[in-house]
Amino acid sequence: MAKILEELKGARTVAISGHVRPDGDCIGSCMGLYLYLKKALPEVRTDIYLEQPSRIFSCIDRIEEVKTDCSEDIVYDAFIAVDTASDRLGAAEKYFKTAKRTINVDHHISNAKGCGQINHVDAAASSASELVYDLMEEELVDASIAKAIYIGIIHDTGVFQYSNTSPRTLMTAAKLISYGFDFSRLIDETFYEKTYVQNQILGRALLESILFMDGRCIVSAIDRKTMDFYNAAPGDLDGIVSQLRIIKGVECAIFMYQTGPQEYKVSMRSNGRVDVAAVASYFGGGGHIRAAGCTLQGTYYDCINNLSLHIEKQLEA
Ligand code: 5GP
Ligand code: MN
Repeated sequence: MAKILEELKGARTVAISGHVRPDGDCIGSCMGLYLYLKKALPEVRTDIYLEQPSRIFSCIDRIEEVKTDCSEDIVYDAFIAVDTASDRLGAAEKYFKTAKRTINVDHHISNAKGCGQINHVDAAASSASELVYDLMEEELVDASIAKAIYIGIIHDTGVFQYSNTSPRTLMTAAKLISYGFDFSRLIDETFYEKTYVQNQILGRALLESILFMDGRCIVSAIDRKTMDFYNAAPGDLDGIVSQLRIIKGVECAIFMYQTGPQEYKVSMRSNGRVDVAAVASYFGGGGHIRAAGCTLQGTYYDCINNLSLHIEKQLEA
């Protein structure tokens, strides 16, 4: 596999970006790559664009350099889209469109072809972070870079628990922890630790959840009013759908939160029998077979009806 430095040869300006509502893998992979390019190519102007990362990621070095403002008019020599296709880059998509060279590093099955001129897409990879690491020269990796990549891997594998964890994932993780950062504390601080309010919302979501299809599906939703009451941001709802998925007998878990009067952001998780990427893709979203999402228009009941139709079809097949 050609290494990223070869692919950036001659570029004087490089931009890195990931998907909207960036999660741990998105932030870890983008920041890992950013730290790596800053070190390997000090003469190059490298910029990183992301929506504001959650405070839990402040342990990543130089995260304060993330640009959330895309108002500058600049044509980059190269743009690297990480953990996403170009349609979910958000405001940074304008730089992707004009860049002279585009590179895509992703592991979403819904982006199998890749959106760049050069593509490193592998749906079998645990995380974009694992793929980014493979594009690095090992002798240039240091503890800062390793930490960012490690955070990405633990987030997308649920701390090496999900079925996307492979021998390659664990071998990469083994190399990463050899750089000597406090991985145990990182896992607690960025993955397991929740604020009091986050736990209260989780409790509400569990209390108000509804089992259907003979207990094979579960759904829960948080509306705008409740989010306002707790002063909660979308990031405060991370982990709710995972908790719904592990309920005994459940094949497919749906969690939704209201983003407009008639709009919901949907997260789905499957235990293997349902391909939730296919369901999400049907509604214009995407993701992985066991973890996917989309945005739906309509009332809470419209959303459940639309999703359950597709899930039931798969469960009955
Ligand atoms: P989550 O439920 O954690 O937000 O997302 C699960 C997976 O689906 C992640 O890999 C995420 O990138 C992907 N995903 C979530 N929402 C969307 C969406 O609206 N479109 C696409 N293409 N992927 C999504
Ligand atoms: Mn990812």
